[in-house]
Amino acid sequence: MTSGNDPKKQSPRRIIVVGGSAAGPKAAARARRLDEQAEIVILERGPDLSMASCGYPYYVGGVFDDRNMLLTTPAGTVRNPTFYLKAKGIIARTGTEVTAIDRAAKAVTIRDVETGQQEELTYDKLVLATGAKPKLPPIPGIDLAGVTTLQSIKDADFLRKVRDEGKTRKAVIVGGGLIGIETCEALHLAGIEITVVELLPQILTFLDWQLAKLVELHVRSKGANVIVDNGVAEFLGQDGRLNGLKLANGTELECDLAVLAIGVSPNTRLAREAGLDVGKTGGILVDDHMRTSDPDIFAAGDCVESANLITGTKVHAPYGDLANLQGRVAGENAATSDGATFPGVVQSGICKIFDYSAGSTGLSEEAARAAYSDDVETAINASTDIPGFMSGKLLVTKLVVKRSDGRLLGAQCIGPGDVGKQIAIWAVAIRGGLTIDDMVNADLPYAPPFSLAIDHSIATAHIMQNKLKGRMKGISAVEVRHKLDAGETPFILDGRGPDEYEQVRLGIGEHLIPLGALRGRLDELPAEKDKEIICFCKISLRGYEAARVLEGRGWTNVRVMEGGIAAWPYPREK
Ligand SMILES: Cc1cc2nc3c(=O)[nH]c(=O)nc-3n(C[C@H](O)[C@H](O)[C@H](O)COP(=O)(O)OP(=O)(O)OC[C@H]3O[C@@H](n4cnc5c(N)ncnc54)[C@H](O)[C@@H]3O)c2cc1C
Repeated sequence: MTSGNDPKKQSPRRIIVVGGSAAGPKAAARARRLDEQAEIVILERGPDLSMASCGYPYYVGGVFDDRNMLLTTPAGTVRNPTFYLKAKGIIARTGTEVTAIDRAAKAVTIRDVETGQQEELTYDKLVLATGAKPKLPPIPGIDLAGVTTLQSIKDADFLRKVRDEGKTRKAVIVGGGLIGIETCEALHLAGIEITVVELLPQILTFLDWQLAKLVELHVRSKGANVIVDNGVAEFLGQDGRLNGLKLANGTELECDLAVLAIGVSPNTRLAREAGLDVGKTGGILVDDHMRTSDPDIFAAGDCVESANLITGTKVHAPYGDLANLQGRVAGENAATSDGATFPGVVQSGICKIFDYSAGSTGLSEEAARAAYSDDVETAINASTDIPGFMSGKLLVTKLVVKRSDGRLLGAQCIGPGDVGKQIAIWAVAIRGGLTIDDMVNADLPYAPPFSLAIDHSIATAHIMQNKLKGRMKGISAVEVRHKLDAGETPFILDGRGPDEYEQVRLGIGEHLIPLGALRGRLDELPAEKDKEIICFCKISLRGYEAARVLEGRGWTNVRVMEGGIAAWPYPREK
């Protein structure tokens, strides 16, 4: 059977898609656009379709009130079965769970969730888009009323009700990842006292510790509490209701709500039971056509594992953008033999937390060192995103490259400025395999409302190039702290003006010598030319200039504390 005039179309009689949230509907819609003749069926066990899960925290936090907005097209039409049938010619069956796949018969068994009635449906091509499920460790008390996740629209409804009722006083968010942090903001906006508890030494593990700590300080500045290096040992309750929890170190926290957000695992029961290959990360194994180990079954979204394009390793990358991209490829390949590909991911992510955003793409320094050991260089840059006269806001970026060839490996950025633009630039650069030399002269668009004349990203590349060429010897705030804690006594030079020093200062034994006065006050510097000198200022631009002056005057061991005070993640004297 052929379809239309395109000889590449296989025109399968029926394409079945399991899962009706992100990857599934995208696969179905793409298949339909490429093949008007096929029968396309979406099977979704829940009551809704095309839920914008990424919007749940904003619905819970009251950023918008109309729940339907989570389910509508940009034109305001609810994406329900009628919409799918009329607008797309796709049969979408909600309340319909797929319970088994018979690969030999090319059939799925389906169960009506309400009536329990079973049915068999044959397929020519099958797309699995079964998503992920929240990790729920067997912590005592996890079943108490008041312990929830924020994974489904039902969870979002529950938490929105909590907000609207206004009775909940204290909540604990268990897990400081993207969803935990977004939930923290949402419930804080609802007037609830929040504590985030994180097992690891930092929140937001896609960032290295220093940048994560800067975000944590911002979260604390808004009145939310953050406890790191500690896990939940037990949920405590009375009469079946949560009233507190006990941490691993014995601390007890009072709370009437706990939201578990400790990550998700691929939902692969169907695939496993059907004998499809599953990878080491727990996700369904697919090739770059999103084809599983069965050539007639494709899979996409949170249920699959992906290739990391930088390291070549397999990763589980549960992100909404990837679910859509993968779904598009799976749908195209289910409908045609064009051989559309999804080669892999660089793992980009971003979240908003109060006035800050935090994003990352590629490898963190920790991940890069695990892959390339010492062949790694980092640079930190702090500046505004646009000029001060346009009310520019702070950005702090950490860039990670392969030292031997300058290949970009990763970038992370935080702050109140336009983090999304920075991460988008680096994500494409990393995906394209660019090096630092490609980035230093990148031709990005510039006008004051949008950028600095040299965009923050390019200035970050300049810092990195200076470091790689040995023109700037950098040191991170973390290394400075370690030196001081180890009893070392470098000469620390603060190159700002006295007014700035009066307002904000680190209090780590620094000497204030404003950059403009430095050349006339060299006699205040150590006489030994090899004494270690660490220069900084608000963002370490003047710190860098000071370092160049000193190196030009014969000091040989001068370093710049990267990012200056803006990237200092410890308490300050002022
Ligand atoms: C609160 C929250 C915030 C998020 N924020 C972001 C963000 O800002 N950016 C980002 O990139 N990502 C974000 N994500 C992640 C993003 O939502 C997911 O990556 C995306 O939804 C994955 O889509 P999917 O279609 O693969 O899986 P899912 O959205 O999980 O959908 C899978 C669907 O399959 C159905 N299903 C499963 N098994 C069966 C079966 N046997 N029969 C029938 N139906 C079945 C399920 O009911 C479900 O509806 C967020 C997620 C959450 C929960």
